Amino acid sequence: MPLPVDFQFSQNNLQDYLDCARRFELRALRRLAWPAAQSEPVIEQERAIERGSRFHHMLHQAVIGIPPTTLAEQCEDPFLQLWWQNYLTHPPQDLPKQRHPEFTLHAPFAGFRLIAKFDLIAIEPGQRAVIVDWKTAPHRPARSTLARRMQTRLYRFLLVEAGASLNQNMPIHPEQVQMIYWFANEPTAPEIFSYNEAEHKQINAELHQLIQEIQSLSNSGQPFPLTTHEKHCAFCTYRSLCGRGIQAGNWQDMEDEPEAETPLQIDLEQIGEIAF
Ligand code: SF4
Repeated sequence: MPLPVDFQFSQNNLQDYLDCARRFELRALRRLAWPAAQSEPVIEQERAIERGSRFHHMLHQAVIGIPPTTLAEQCEDPFLQLWWQNYLTHPPQDLPKQRHPEFTLHAPFAGFRLIAKFDLIAIEPGQRAVIVDWKTAPHRPARSTLARRMQTRLYRFLLVEAGASLNQNMPIHPEQVQMIYWFANEPTAPEIFSYNEAEHKQINAELHQLIQEIQSLSNSGQPFPLTTHEKHCAFCTYRSLCGRGIQAGNWQDMEDEPEAETPLQIDLEQIGEIAF
């Protein structure tokens, strides 16, 4: 099945492809919903999704000016209260004053489109731009894992490629970009990644190669191959379809937030065009 001409490559679907090409095919290309839990116990997974989503919403509201005490009064869940207290006591340090929460950037790339929704971009025009990503998963990934993740690569790349509109229409240089992962359970130990021109060129080449590979697999008409790393199957809803077992992994072992059903798909008309 060829890629639709309006296909959007995001960190989620590119990471799916890196973890397992078949998952990319089933989820991003065929959009196949499969009735299975991503992790267990299901009730805990659902609570984690809801709690993570509420925490992100509270942070968004705080950035747009709602007093933190008002937000604190609204939260009854003890996990949320703890995370909120952690945020108030140890927020990310030294962020530029201009803040853009829940901000989407996109750019044409390799005949398709790259897209990312950022938790927060904090910018000092002409000087520096900081990406903040709020993490609420119970298990913190190693720095080396985060460095390899598509999110770390794509977010910094896209901010440079498409972020000029936030920077008084001046290009953002890779050396001006920083990415911070802030962990709700470990607020004093954020993971910080800088960026540079050499990395930007390398990621550019990697993304081109990856998208070409996906395109030629799609055009071949053959099914995408299943991953040989079966640990990826533990948190994949397609387990039974692929014959990789029926037992989901425990949500407490997840390094990423469990996902709601619908993968990121953004209606570009809703967010308008950005000059590149
Ligand atoms: S169950 Fe395993 S092989 Fe099947 S799509 Fe998921 S990760 Fe890939």
